[in-house]
Amino acid sequence: MHKKHLKFVLITEAFAEIKNTLDMQSELKKREEIEPLLRRIEDLQIRKGTRKVHPLELVRRNGLWIKSHGSEKFYYGIDLVELFLDLLSSKPAETVSEVYSEIQCVKASVAKHPKTGATGLLIETEMEKFKCLKCGHCCLNLSDAYQTSVPDSDVKRWKREQRFDILERVDTFAGINDIWISPKTGEAVSRCPWLRKLPKKSKYICRIHETKPEHCRNFPKSKRHALDNGCKGFPAD
Ligand code: SF4
Ligand code: SF4
Repeated sequence: MHKKHLKFVLITEAFAEIKNTLDMQSELKKREEIEPLLRRIEDLQIRKGTRKVHPLELVRRNGLWIKSHGSEKFYYGIDLVELFLDLLSSKPAETVSEVYSEIQCVKASVAKHPKTGATGLLIETEMEKFKCLKCGHCCLNLSDAYQTSVPDSDVKRWKREQRFDILERVDTFAGINDIWISPKTGEAVSRCPWLRKLPKKSKYICRIHETKPEHCRNFPKSKRHALDNGCKGFPAD
């Protein structure tokens, strides 16, 4: 049994993670996730003229007034994520912890930073349960794995390691390092050139595993990131 992987985040960092996760969702999915939470965490009084509007009608309107703690605010264009995070910011850390747990699909609890005493969340990330199945899905199907840009730190490492086979597949222009290009045509590839299928197996390996780009090393960033991207490396709950 592996030790639980824990991480501490400040409340502001927890907000940033929630925002990042929600912003990545389709409008429909945002709505599906946010509306039940909105109803749970806030006794909303929504009015359209003199009429009260049910939260489920939010996205059909151009904007709405939200009355909260005696003051009203108009949300134009109904950015549900902005609205939700705004309301959440007036809630106690315990509520942020509940919302974080639900959205990120992990357990979080309110805690103090051991050194600074700042309030934050202690998160059981469950990363100790992650096991890459070598299914190749992330490298084959997520085009932002191989049609993207990499930080200078990756390029500097490849230069240090004299990996000219890798460097010839990087197109650096105006400070941006685009990967992967065909060294023959200079065009972006339609499949990662480093992915290899193991003979007679449905398993894949990365031929530059020891020095692959940072974003590949860090995939998936979290359990929610894996779930959102179809990675099956976490056991089913
Ligand atoms: S999708 Fe997940 S399990 Fe499959 S190869 Fe990528 S990281 Fe591993
Ligand atoms: S470099 Fe390796 S890990 Fe990254 S997409 Fe290509 S095969 Fe996958």
